[in-house]
Amino acid sequence: MCIAPKPLILSCPSCHWKKRYEFKSDALIFDVPTNCPVCSHAPLKTKPLDSLSIANKLKTFFLD
Ligand SMILES: [Zn+2]
Repeated sequence: MCIAPKPLILSCPSCHWKKRYEFKSDALIFDVPTNCPVCSHAPLKTKPLDSLSIANKLKTFFLD
């Protein structure tokens, strides 16, 4: 089974803060914020997938 990691782009609909997170095969990143670090707005917009969906898929893959 092979997962092709895609970059996750978070953006804040309130203050337009934006940050790109790379999911690398050898260094998985799970410290993705759920609140805006600038104005604390939640939830953040995500592209291309919801951050929780990505995290759950990765957790499922590694726990199986
Ligand atoms: Zn914000």
